[in-house]
Amino acid sequence: MNIILMGPPGCGKGTQAQRLQDRYGMIQLSTGDMLRAAVAAGTEIGKQAKAIMDRGDLVSDEVVVGIIVDRIQEADVQAKGFILDGFPRTVAQAKKLDQVLVEKGIGIDHIIELTVDEAALFARIENRAKESGGDVRADDNAETLKKRIMVYRDQTAPILPYYDGAGRLEKVDGMASIEDVTQQLEEILDRRAEAARRA
Ligand code: AMP
Repeated sequence: MNIILMGPPGCGKGTQAQRLQDRYGMIQLSTGDMLRAAVAAGTEIGKQAKAIMDRGDLVSDEVVVGIIVDRIQEADVQAKGFILDGFPRTVAQAKKLDQVLVEKGIGIDHIIELTVDEAALFARIENRAKESGGDVRADDNAETLKKRIMVYRDQTAPILPYYDGAGRLEKVDGMASIEDVTQQLEEILDRRAEAARRA
């Protein structure tokens, strides 16, 4: 099963992707994690990406599309399926992904948006920043997180009508508790599995 999880920074996508990976076995592909690994390893891509990530902007479409297109063709991902977490983040990335998936004959089973109330999300971020006492990722301080939410609104949210227009978007209430969100996601995934079993 192949899934795309959409939603702004701080909505809990990463946590839910991890939970789905543990329960269903698809592989969580987080472009943020991959880029942070490149930064830590000091690769050329990492060096280029670091400053962009630290200030909360988006790394170029070319770089992230390159990373993800390579990864989804690897044997483990082909065998187990994937959960895209943090990709696509622009309409250009979404279109390129569609093109590659068609070329490779790879289908997407679910595109799910974790919907959030932006004001509540900002409040959550302020709280988290206070509770963590400053011990956070370089791009996870309150200021940069707000910037990343703005970037989401400007550059990533336009993907939603692109998917929705094609009737491909399913929505889950991302403001519910972690447990509830997981349950909603599992209902969507299990419904499909049940239908496949009956067919
Ligand atoms: P994340 O962990 O998904 O919040 O990503 C952390 C940072 O990595 C983002 O703020 C961007 O700078 C960069 N990044 C991750 N995924 C993408 C993407 N699909 N396109 C562009 N930049 C990305």
